[in-house]
Amino acid sequence: MQSIKKILSASEARLVEAALIEKNDLTPQEAKFEAQLLLQSILKVNRAWLIAHDQDTLAANIHTDFQTLLMRRLHGEPIAYILGHREFYGLDLTVTPDTLIPRPDTETLVEAALAKIPLSSFRRKSESSDFKTLDSDFRRNDELNVLDLGTGTGAIALAIAKNRPQANVVGVDASDAALEIAQKNAQSLSIANIEFILSDWFEALAGDQFDVIVSNPPYIAQNDPHLAQGDLRFEPISALASGVDGLDDIRHIIENCLIYLKPQGWLMLEHGYDQAELVADLMAQTGLVDIATLKDLGNQHRVTIAKNPLIVSTHWD
Ligand code: GLN
Repeated sequence: MQSIKKILSASEARLVEAALIEKNDLTPQEAKFEAQLLLQSILKVNRAWLIAHDQDTLAANIHTDFQTLLMRRLHGEPIAYILGHREFYGLDLTVTPDTLIPRPDTETLVEAALAKIPLSSFRRKSESSDFKTLDSDFRRNDELNVLDLGTGTGAIALAIAKNRPQANVVGVDASDAALEIAQKNAQSLSIANIEFILSDWFEALAGDQFDVIVSNPPYIAQNDPHLAQGDLRFEPISALASGVDGLDDIRHIIENCLIYLKPQGWLMLEHGYDQAELVADLMAQTGLVDIATLKDLGNQHRVTIAKNPLIVSTHWD
């Protein structure tokens, strides 16, 4: 019988080889980490346990179960779908093939939203210059509303709700199956200031307005060869591709956003590394102001934000 250490190093080599054949990037370190994750999920142990017990041998049934998971990974299935989990912004999320796998790049979008949402529920005039002009509104309607369009696992919406407990967050998705996962994630994380609604973009939101609207919509061009590579092959195409130039859904969101944005409210969109200028132009054409693009962890232009210029003036101003 082989030791855990031997089994893992053989698996690591097979993963690197399979990735090379697929022209995928998988460094030996990543392969090692993935092999460990697969075995950890079967043994229900953490990484430290596995390392401390690397001279142990595996029972035959455990070894078989491990080989089954390894084969799935060798056939290209994303590790997040095999494990059924992915960490995002410090939250452990359930993911299934009905949902896009949350990516670290999208944390840039969460941070952009958190930067515009004050921490405290009591918002004094001096507290946030970005929201200053909303104060009169808040005396009548002391709520901070955030919308996540195409919420998938709920990753973005949950990260915002968790970090801004005073905000009411709404996550919408056109997929019932995705919403079920998002709901499950909210429950297992005990995040209560969130609601999930079945809606094709803004469709089911008539009459609602939000301080911040975020979205990581599909933005890949429909015949981009990347769709046939790596993890993307296994993810819902409706969460990835959007028309000939990848911008169909982004255009729809920008063209309709002013109806759903409160005065001075922000629209924040994730997009492709080469789409920032196009997205900024669309935002400017719609009349949004203070347009800015932010970079992701890989230093790519990934998120563009813009503000509704409308200012509500009331009798007490
Ligand atoms: N950022 C993802 C990728 O390029 C795509 C996700 C999306 O289209 N929103 O892999």
